[in-house]
Amino acid sequence: RTVYLNGAYLPEEEAKVSIFDRGFVMGDAVYEVTSVLGGKILEFEGHMNRLARSLSELEMTCDLSREEWIEIHRELIARNNIDEGLVYLQISRGNAGDRDFHYPPAGTPPTVVLYTQAKTNLADDPKAKTGIKVISLPDLRWHRRDIKTVQLLYPSMAKMAAEAAGKNDAWFVEDGFVTEGSSNNTYIVKGNKIITRQLSHDILHGITRASLLKYAAEAQMEIEERPYTIAEAQAADEAFFTSASAFVMPVVEVDNVAIGAGKPGPVAARLREIYLEESLKAAI
Ligand code: PMP
Repeated sequence: RTVYLNGAYLPEEEAKVSIFDRGFVMGDAVYEVTSVLGGKILEFEGHMNRLARSLSELEMTCDLSREEWIEIHRELIARNNIDEGLVYLQISRGNAGDRDFHYPPAGTPPTVVLYTQAKTNLADDPKAKTGIKVISLPDLRWHRRDIKTVQLLYPSMAKMAAEAAGKNDAWFVEDGFVTEGSSNNTYIVKGNKIITRQLSHDILHGITRASLLKYAAEAQMEIEERPYTIAEAQAADEAFFTSASAFVMPVVEVDNVAIGAGKPGPVAARLREIYLEESLKAAI
């Protein structure tokens, strides 16, 4: 695989980063994951806008232009023959000096890494037909979940706990209400209404979420942005989550309680179809 590191395209074995890099030592890095379908990049603008916001919230700078980002994505997709897959992008604050809590001086170059991951069945995911099962866990993450940092230890622990319980994923709960999934935004459906938590520092502002809500509104579906409890989710007609790599994924069980008929419902199925169709139309 050919990867990108700080301006160079390299075989993955040759892409090396300093052991003093703050991404490695401090988790001082932000990232994006973008889907590729039919060789095209989905939601490019959305991911680039969020990346810029994450950088700015952390007072990090990276001087690559929108055109350069597009070129790097396209170059990696072409060099690695990616028809269906993901592009992972990470920017850390760099630093080749000794470990220090303080940020390095302005002008210290960030470490920019991009690589592709080939996938099959992203669009045609068999899990979309069966739905997935989740457990709930307390949300023990920090309180700036709107910044997409690489501090993913707790989500990682949550996925391991879900797997140990024989389930697929975890939904986080804070002050009695669902915040989001371990790596996705969550929704419940009650009658004709789609309910999802409003944006704040408590959740990541999902790119898939933003587009999905737009497409749902265009399809005259009713949307309510507010928090909800696990009990309300368990009593809902349907549940699902969204993320850049899973698109719209039905959730059929929460904490051992089946949701609705215990299988993917019509609203989630329709939204998945609409999302794939519309986001592919807008792909570049
Ligand atoms: N919340 C969290 C915590 C996530 O890690 C992700 C995946 N990036 C999402 C929500 C979904 O965001 P997006 O639709 O932009 O992938």
